[in-house]
Amino acid sequence: MADATLVQPDLEFKRDILSLGAHDLTSCYQCGTCSVVCPISTDADPFPRKEMIWVQWGLKDKLLIDPAVWLCHQCNLCNTYCPRDAKPADVMSTLRDYSITHYSVPGFMGKAVSRAKYLPLLFAFPALILLAVLALLGNLTSLPTGQIVFSKFLPIIYIEVIFSLGVGAAAVNAIIGGLRYWKGMNDYSLASENGGPVKGFIPTLVDVLMHRKFKQCEEDRVGTRESYKSHLHKSHLAVFYGFLGLVITTTSVGIGIYAFGYLTPWPLWHPVKILGNVSGAAVLAACGIFLYHRLKGSEQGGKSTYWDWLFLWVLTLTTLTGFLSEILRLADIPPLAYWVYFIHLVFIFSLLVYIPYSKFAHLAYRFVAMLYSRSRASTPSTT
Ligand code: SF4
Ligand code: SF4
Repeated sequence: MADATLVQPDLEFKRDILSLGAHDLTSCYQCGTCSVVCPISTDADPFPRKEMIWVQWGLKDKLLIDPAVWLCHQCNLCNTYCPRDAKPADVMSTLRDYSITHYSVPGFMGKAVSRAKYLPLLFAFPALILLAVLALLGNLTSLPTGQIVFSKFLPIIYIEVIFSLGVGAAAVNAIIGGLRYWKGMNDYSLASENGGPVKGFIPTLVDVLMHRKFKQCEEDRVGTRESYKSHLHKSHLAVFYGFLGLVITTTSVGIGIYAFGYLTPWPLWHPVKILGNVSGAAVLAACGIFLYHRLKGSEQGGKSTYWDWLFLWVLTLTTLTGFLSEILRLADIPPLAYWVYFIHLVFIFSLLVYIPYSKFAHLAYRFVAMLYSRSRASTPSTT
């Protein structure tokens, strides 16, 4: 006799999902159109139809360990075909937001980043740390004189220490969250091993680097209807590699300073500087496209949650203040250049250190879900 699974409906969870923005899910009548049109859903584990009924039934435990929640790449095609306007893509997006908070370590940080009322505190934290350093150096009341050099205002060593501690803690917390998600999927999986995570790691990484799923969302469409996310593959590529370019730029500057004593500011024609500026421009352009489509396409394209806006604006303002501080430095306007640079640092801290709790966490959870699904043989869905 097959093993029975006891499922505990959690109606509070259903209320939470509805209140987070998935208002229309109750109109779903389980026709299955969404799973049929989804370009990346598979026959063995179709989505998002089953997730719609699971939320209606309050099956929180099943949804929190459901790989499909993160395998969805939010192309929104299912929204455009749903005959009941139940917005399955929005439900999947809301489930991801809920999962990020659920798996957050420490838990209070997940709650803080998910609620607008804590936003001033989140920005105040890095601002106060940096202000304390400035006060310590005497740069709070009198700015450095002469040519604008940001490291005279806030020496690199202080920035390195503060950011290394913050980003290190964020990395550890993101890994713990990802492992908890993996363990949840693993403990309750009916699927058998299919090579395991070690064998699947490199192919999954290649899928991510080449954005194969986003490409599939673009190429494997059925029908002729468009969703406002048809730009997703190219925009995500730009933001992904732009961000990677900025990370490489920052790391190279650190190596240049400590290994070769090559002090900042570096000339505009320096290859690392060119990489930084081109990467920043790519991120900014992609953010502009995302913002435009989110502002324009709310009705047919699906909703934007607080997580979406927070992540998008912090990323946009981080890049924008980076360019602005560079322009003000070249224009030789010391007070503005130094304080815009200060704001830039606050945004960088907020972007990187809050990664495990913001929408940026999709980097970790989607990778875990893709790796998990690759390392397991598919088992047909039972619902
Ligand atoms: S969400 Fe829409 S398309 Fe999907 S099963 Fe429900 S009614 Fe059908
Ligand atoms: S948003 Fe796109 S990827 Fe996600 S379930 Fe809908 S159709 Fe599939």
